[in-house]
Amino acid sequence: MIRIAIQTKGRLNEESIKMLSSIDIDIDNNKRKFLSKAANYPAEVLYLRDDDIPHVVESGTAQLGIVGLNEVAEKGCNVEIVCKLGFGGCRISLAIPKGDEYTGVEYFNGKRIATSYPAILQKFLNENNIDARIEVITGSVEIAPAAEIADAIFDIVSSGGTLVSNGLKEVERVFESEAVLIANKDLAAQEKEILDEILFRIESEKISQRKKYILMNIPSENLQKALQILPAMRSPTVLPLAAEGWCSLHSVVGADELWDKVKQLKAIGAEGILVLSLDKIIL
Ligand code: ATP
Ligand code: MG
Repeated sequence: MIRIAIQTKGRLNEESIKMLSSIDIDIDNNKRKFLSKAANYPAEVLYLRDDDIPHVVESGTAQLGIVGLNEVAEKGCNVEIVCKLGFGGCRISLAIPKGDEYTGVEYFNGKRIATSYPAILQKFLNENNIDARIEVITGSVEIAPAAEIADAIFDIVSSGGTLVSNGLKEVERVFESEAVLIANKDLAAQEKEILDEILFRIESEKISQRKKYILMNIPSENLQKALQILPAMRSPTVLPLAAEGWCSLHSVVGADELWDKVKQLKAIGAEGILVLSLDKIIL
């Protein structure tokens, strides 16, 4: 049995449940429960505030966790960052009043900066030899300059809309974040085995998202040309059709090259092209 800590509510909750479900670990997302067992896997989910997840994984109360890389970096916990999960993308940036001229990081010397991420900010200031005062605020950091609590802010940005509506402009992108899978560093052998299985499933899922299954009818005389356009994982499947001089060709292509391949295949007479999403690719 393995315990996975995820956010109870907030931006990462739904995506975390969705990610587990995409690798066939089905969790009942009943927020009144503190712990929830997977119906079909030796795993249970522990619901927590995201701030608590790195520490709970470090201490081993949960063996795994899904949390923003920003929280892991801020808390400085000694956990293994197993893999990035491709959701919850954001950055932590320095922003200043939009009327101020900005010529470089020296701007922040002697300034007061409001943030909920003092550790990440202090590291950046040290690396750049900047002497600024950090004002720790846990919510609504963006109002600090207007409220004259600080001269600048260091906060999470995704679209930048919140900054603009508070009369601020982003001047330094300091930390790029996304949701990550973290693990305790002293997993027992059996827990390690479950983690390996989870990773294998995540990898299969990631590969399948970037691929499409394509099938079409093609004049037999152009089969060789089609095979050159469509190199498959091992080799494409070719099946004879009842109609004389035609065959059916099945293959897997990268989603980003799909339309280019379709164009080339149509040019050599491919018909009835079907493109299907792939659920899993097991290599
Ligand atoms: P909790 O109640 O669990 O402490 P929270 O209010 O601290 O929640 P959320 O706002 O739900 O946290 O954000 C969780 C994580 O989502 C952030 O730590 C960050 O990694 C990620 N994230 C992605 N985009 C954004 C965004 N625009 N604003 C804030 N967080 C974002
Ligand atoms: Mg939080």
